[in-house]
Amino acid sequence: MSSQRDDSGASADPADPADPAARTPPRHVDLHTHSTASDGLYAPAELARLAHEAGLDLIALVDHDTTAGVTEAQAAGQALGVRVMPGVEINTTLFGAGDAHILGYEVTPDDASLDRNLSLLRDLRERRGERMVEKLRVAGFEISWEQVRALADGTVGRPHIARALINGGYATDVSDAFARYLTPGKPGFSPRYKLSADDAVRIIRSARGIATLAHPAAIADLETSVLPRLVAAGLQGLECYYGPRNEATSYGYYDDTTVAWLVGLADRFELIATGGSDYHGPRMHPTPLGGRYVPPVAVTRLREAREAALARPAEEFILPTPEL
Ligand SMILES: [Zn+2]
Ligand SMILES: [Zn+2]
Repeated sequence: MSSQRDDSGASADPADPADPAARTPPRHVDLHTHSTASDGLYAPAELARLAHEAGLDLIALVDHDTTAGVTEAQAAGQALGVRVMPGVEINTTLFGAGDAHILGYEVTPDDASLDRNLSLLRDLRERRGERMVEKLRVAGFEISWEQVRALADGTVGRPHIARALINGGYATDVSDAFARYLTPGKPGFSPRYKLSADDAVRIIRSARGIATLAHPAAIADLETSVLPRLVAAGLQGLECYYGPRNEATSYGYYDDTTVAWLVGLADRFELIATGGSDYHGPRMHPTPLGGRYVPPVAVTRLREAREAALARPAEEFILPTPEL
């Protein structure tokens, strides 16, 4: 197959340097990482450096609702021989019940409709943060929106409010803050805007990205209703390899049985089996960068799907502004 490789589409893709070395299949990959552009602890350039240290030659940067870190990570990675695949992760609601995260791989980072859709989502997220801080203030907590805002380099999320609460002496750590103040029924909770999973798939396809269902093992009715519906909307990948290799830190770990089940589903629905560590940094997520083996063929298949996406007619999608 590789001797028949057709490179004609390569130069059309701004995310792929013309350098032929960039076309060599990577061997050590992590397709799920976060930086300070969303809620990760390391700046994009630092993340690329850590990836190099961890022996990775490709990472996908999938910050929540933003591709703002991609250029910096790519520039830093290029100097070290670490390729950075542009991506994004979008939180959604599954058809009225339950949560699902949709990953977009190989999106065009500066795509105009992607920018518009993601900035609307960030805006809604920010307004939710403001509502939560306001509720906490009314309940007597001495924290301010300015304090919370200063803790986030990019999009504000509940982790930043949690850190403001820790700084104010109201909680011992992030999970303590979530459990006591920031979950349903607690004084600082406000519900988020409910983006449907199929609309997230459409947002990613509109940027000619590869929509992938993240960490799906715990999703109810995955085989019978969720996958059929998302595949109909244009889903192309399923995160089958997830969590740390080290069983001592078994948080979120997908064991062999789970992986085999998910890979079987990916085959059945003709989805690309992806995976990664969901690295956020040591204090936020116990998974080491590169800590989960992901078959590098996933990268090849994502690239093939990207080239097919570039060749098809545009599927422009703009999310309507919700009334809140
Ligand atoms: Zn996620
Ligand atoms: Zn994630």
